[in-house]
Amino acid sequence: MPRRLLARVRDVMAGDAGAEERLNQVVSIIAAEMSAEVCSIYVRRAGEVLELFATQGLKQSAVHNTRLRVGEGLVGEIAARAKPSSLTDAQSHPNFAYRPETGEEIYHSLMGVPLLRSGRVNGVVVVQNRSPREYEEEEVEALQTVAMVLAEVVAGGDLLSREEQLPADGNALLPLRLEGVQFNAGIGIGTAVLHQPRYVVENLVAEDLDAEHARLREAVSEMHGALDTLLQASDIATGGDHTEILETYRMIAEDAGWLARIGEAIASGLTAEAAVQKVLNDIQARMSQVTDPYLRERIHDFEDLADRLLQHLVGSGSDSELQKLPDDVVLVARSMGPAQLLDYDRRCLKGLVLEEGSSTSHVAIVARALDIPVVGCVQGVAGMIEEGEPVIVDGDNAQVFIRPGEEMRRIFFRSAKALGQRKAGYASLRELRAVTRDGERISIQINAGLLIDLEHLKDMGAAGVGLYRTEVPFMVRSQFPDVETQQKIYARVIEQAAGKPVAFRTLDVGGDKVLPYWRDAGEENPAMGWRAIRIGLDRPSLLRQQLRALIRAAAGGPLCVMFPMIAEVSEFIAARKLLDMELEREVKRGGPLPGELSVGAMMEVPALLFQLPALLRRVDFISIGSNDLLQFLFASDRGNARTAGRYDPLSPAVLRIFRDVLVQCRQADVPVSVCGEMAGNPLDAMALIGMGYRSISLSPPSMGQVKTMIRSLEIGPLETYMENLYQSDHRNLRENLRAFARDHGVKI
Ligand code: PEP
Ligand code: MG
Repeated sequence: MPRRLLARVRDVMAGDAGAEERLNQVVSIIAAEMSAEVCSIYVRRAGEVLELFATQGLKQSAVHNTRLRVGEGLVGEIAARAKPSSLTDAQSHPNFAYRPETGEEIYHSLMGVPLLRSGRVNGVVVVQNRSPREYEEEEVEALQTVAMVLAEVVAGGDLLSREEQLPADGNALLPLRLEGVQFNAGIGIGTAVLHQPRYVVENLVAEDLDAEHARLREAVSEMHGALDTLLQASDIATGGDHTEILETYRMIAEDAGWLARIGEAIASGLTAEAAVQKVLNDIQARMSQVTDPYLRERIHDFEDLADRLLQHLVGSGSDSELQKLPDDVVLVARSMGPAQLLDYDRRCLKGLVLEEGSSTSHVAIVARALDIPVVGCVQGVAGMIEEGEPVIVDGDNAQVFIRPGEEMRRIFFRSAKALGQRKAGYASLRELRAVTRDGERISIQINAGLLIDLEHLKDMGAAGVGLYRTEVPFMVRSQFPDVETQQKIYARVIEQAAGKPVAFRTLDVGGDKVLPYWRDAGEENPAMGWRAIRIGLDRPSLLRQQLRALIRAAAGGPLCVMFPMIAEVSEFIAARKLLDMELEREVKRGGPLPGELSVGAMMEVPALLFQLPALLRRVDFISIGSNDLLQFLFASDRGNARTAGRYDPLSPAVLRIFRDVLVQCRQADVPVSVCGEMAGNPLDAMALIGMGYRSISLSPPSMGQVKTMIRSLEIGPLETYMENLYQSDHRNLRENLRAFARDHGVKI
């Protein structure tokens, strides 16, 4: 049955009937071939409505009159879930929505599948039978295959205008400003290029199965060869996490399960290309409900690979298509795999806009390595923009402008130019030391998490890595890295740091840092929940493994470890004990111990402020995590946009605390530094220096501004000025400090 059904559908598509007539012909073919009394096609219209477009068996007067909302009735449920459904007794289903105008009351069984195109449902095809009937798996699959063809007919634009397929906001041609999430900073101005699968499968039914299997084998081997070339030729620095991601991608390309399923689809009578498309549809449908960010990322990898395989099976001219691209490409995509980005000429890429993803998604990491501004999570953007329209990607402010007017473009050109000049200016600071005008040297270090970040050590002449967030490499991996893998990661970090010190902070997961493979504990208040050192102490083997990997990675060289979220001195003592146990273990194993070991605590829980004397007797250094410390001091969520800015770090309370910590550390002769975001803001950094801090660690993009500030500052007058601020009763001292900077020529 499936092969004959497919062959007849193919004949309809090859004929010259219009789109609506094709639907009519297809419903009668399906009804006949599947021995169903009814076959109907519903098309998704604007406003999340499914409208009956063609039917065999229901009343013809219902066509274009019967409508269901997505989610309403069984048909609406199939669309909402993007999954096939088959029911022997549909009418008894709680979601059955009776439509009297269709005359469907006499039909009991129902089977329907979504029309899926690029992971989106654009309609539903349903068969119904009068008598209770169990639809076979094979029948469901056959209908899914036909649904692929129908989805193309719907998307073709003859049934519904393109405007109607756009999200209906009524201003399709007006300039639009859309908000998203920053995946990479920077400004990109250019021409929209819609990244979408370039291959439409026209030939569905195989004439000769052996020949199709052979075509698949050949295409797979060509694809592997081409991928190797692509990955080798991509001129991003090797050795970073992005390299690992691309390697993982290469492994998925060889995934035997995926290829076997394509083989099975060919065996059911499909051409190789239709089989690739079908297996992708299956994966997309199965994964459409998945919210897990890591698993969602896998869908993009498969979409990327399927597209690539189709290129080898049916494609010609893809290269020439790519060559026609403008030289200021702003790519707009629903989602994208990491290797797909590399298909585009890097010199032409000015920006990337994605509907989905997260800042740790693979394509975002690769884009960062290429230094392309990226805004993600821009809902519906791919449907709101036409190829060739002007776009501005403002990564700094997580916004995208579609069809911006002349004036807007001029403003952004100016900012982009200024940004470029500023960056070039900062680069020239590299060789200059971070020394104040009165000769005080400030140690500026960077906060890092990915290997790519370490490149900034050289760029900006930083003194070292003041905070290496070990959880970041855990977050971009598919499973918990074992000791050996961790050791390799840390060893690479040490190697890249080229002799500069690196403070490895042990795993700080929980809160906003979610590991894709770690089940969310469903805590109401995860920032104050089971996170960081609490997990490490409750699961000592986990922390011990990490410490073991760090000791081995140090390979006899210096090692600096710090423990996050210490709330009581006893927690530091316990963590330190685990470290000692691992050192002993290393001795027994005959491995080298770190040449120099320094062990510190992060100061980010207010309770620890009141245990400083006991703590300072035991630590080698302290690093103030101002992000968490401030959120707990003010009881104000660091990630909540509504409370952001409500309390200012430059307030008397904070200044007094920071000053007090510094005085106590000085008395105990324990080095102290600040590694939260505060240190990266030039004015805040100036205040820290005024309080006596001489060591700060900040995110790399802030380096230039902070170094510039330091080189224009004279500490003496600032210290005197600040003496009066500690006892001030103003709630906010930012304006006072800004006035000082202005009056004393400090560049902030
Ligand atoms: C902090 O809390 O200030 C800090 C540096 O750690 P993180 O931002 O990783 O929580
Ligand atoms: Mg923190």
